[in-house]
Amino acid sequence: MCPQCTADARFIEYRTRTILTVCGSAELTRAYYHCSSCGAGHSPADDTLRLDGRYSPGVQPLVALAGVLEPFRRAEELLDQLAGLRVSKEACRVFTERAGERLEAQHLTHPCVEPVRAPKPWDFTLPERDGQRFEGTVAYVGLDAFAVPTIGADGTREWKM
Ligand SMILES: [Zn+2]
Repeated sequence: MCPQCTADARFIEYRTRTILTVCGSAELTRAYYHCSSCGAGHSPADDTLRLDGRYSPGVQPLVALAGVLEPFRRAEELLDQLAGLRVSKEACRVFTERAGERLEAQHLTHPCVEPVRAPKPWDFTLPERDGQRFEGTVAYVGLDAFAVPTIGADGTREWKM
């Protein structure tokens, strides 16, 4: 099915494309379809693999990160020096700006985390009983003991509470 007009698209052939991954370039052969209704061609595998042009989904944030750290021209050199990735400064700009747009949209749809408010202080006043109020404060402490298995000086086992 054609993603442009939803008409039936016809299989034409398998086409090979060079893609860029975090491990470098790779050849990818995938099915190519053509739509006679609107004239568009596409390879569904590109969408399945979440390719953006020739860029794999793994390398896209890497390119954007380099674009954030350095000016785009320097990011191009940085990617080559660090990972041997050949990426144009224009691609650095595009992926960095897209990442910034996604982050902005995320900030607009998800409010910032609010600081935790201080917990309400404990109330140590006694409750009223038969209409009488009691002055002063009170606190109850509960303590639960547990047993610890030990071996005494004479070698016998005992439980300490
Ligand atoms: Zn079409």
